[in-house]
Amino acid sequence: MKYYQPTSLTELFELHSTLSAQSSVFLAGGTDLIPRYERGLVMPDHLIDLKKLSALNQIQDSESHVTIGALATIQDIQEHEILATEFLALHKASYDFAGAQIRHRGTIGGNICNASPAGDLLPALYAFEAILTLSGPAGERQLAIKDFILGPGKTALREAEILKSIVLNRDQYLSDFQKVGLRQSMAISVVNVAFVFSRAGETFNHLKIAAGAVAPTIVTLDKFTQAFVQNGGNATAIKDLIQEDISPIDDIRATASYRKRVLTNLIGAFLAGQTR
Ligand SMILES: Cc1cc2nc3c(=O)[nH]c(=O)nc-3n(C[C@H](O)[C@H](O)[C@H](O)COP(=O)(O)OP(=O)(O)OC[C@H]3O[C@@H](n4cnc5c(N)ncnc54)[C@H](O)[C@@H]3O)c2cc1C
Repeated sequence: MKYYQPTSLTELFELHSTLSAQSSVFLAGGTDLIPRYERGLVMPDHLIDLKKLSALNQIQDSESHVTIGALATIQDIQEHEILATEFLALHKASYDFAGAQIRHRGTIGGNICNASPAGDLLPALYAFEAILTLSGPAGERQLAIKDFILGPGKTALREAEILKSIVLNRDQYLSDFQKVGLRQSMAISVVNVAFVFSRAGETFNHLKIAAGAVAPTIVTLDKFTQAFVQNGGNATAIKDLIQEDISPIDDIRATASYRKRVLTNLIGAFLAGQTR
C-alpha cells in the first residue's frame, strides 16, 4: 500500500486520476477507517490522507451562515463559540462524543462520510438541514445531508469526490441533543436525537426532530412533528406517530423495542419541558 498527503485539491485530483485503475481510499482522522483495517478489512492499494488540505479544516462564519470545513475535528466543533451558542445540539453532540483522543483526531467529514446510523453529529446536522459542498475533478456541487447519506456506510459521493464543507444557516433556532448509550462516556449511541425549534409563547413556529440508531439512516420525524405542531398531542398519539417514522433493529447494544421506548421517552420529556 502506498500513502500520499496532497496539499491542495488540484494536487489531490491530479493524483487520483493517475491511480484510477487501482483501489484508493481517502483518510481523514482514521478513527473509523484504521480500526476497520485492524479488524481485517483488505487494505487499498493507495491511501490518500486529506489532513494536509488546510483549507478544509477552518470554521468560518458570515452574517447568514457558518461553514465548517470537513476536516474540522470534533474538538474544534466543541470549542467553537458560535456553534456553542447558536447550534447547541451540534455542540452537545460533540461534547458527548468519545474521549479526548478521538475528539482531537476524528473529523466531522469522517462522521458524515462514514454514514453510520448511530453517528452522533448526524441528528443535529439533519435537524439544522445542513447543506454539504462536495468537490471533485469536475467541480463542486451542493447536496442536502438527507440526500447525501443513502444507507449504512453508503453516500452519494462520486468517484474521486470528497466532502469539502458543511453549511449551516444562522436561523437563530433553539436546539437540544440527547444521547443514550450503554454507559456514560465512550459509548456508541443506542439512540440519539436532536431537536431544532422556535416558539411563539405556547406554540412551536418551527420544530424539527432527527433521530439516530432507529433506522438504516437518520430519520426526521416529520409526520409526528407536523401533527404535533398543527394539533398538539396526547401521549398515545405521540407514541403511534413516532413509531410510524422509525424502523429500529435488534443488535448487540439494544433491542428494537427498547430503542422505540427510549426515543418515545426522550421526545416526550423534551415536549413536556417545552410545554410546562
Ligand atoms: C474509541 C472510539 C470511540 C468513538 N466514539 C464515537 C462516538 O461517541 N460517536 C460517534 O459518532 N462516533 C464515534 N466513533 C467513530 C469515529 O470516531 C467518528 O465517526 C469520526 O467522526 C470519524 O472521523 P475520521 O476523521 O476519523 O474518519 P476516517 O476514519 O478518516 O474516515 C471515515 C470514512 O469517511 C471517509 N472520509 C473521511 N473524510 C472524508 C472526506 N472529507 N471526503 C470524503 N470521504 C471522507 C473515509 O474514506 C472513510 O470511509 C468512535 C471511534 C472510536 C475508535
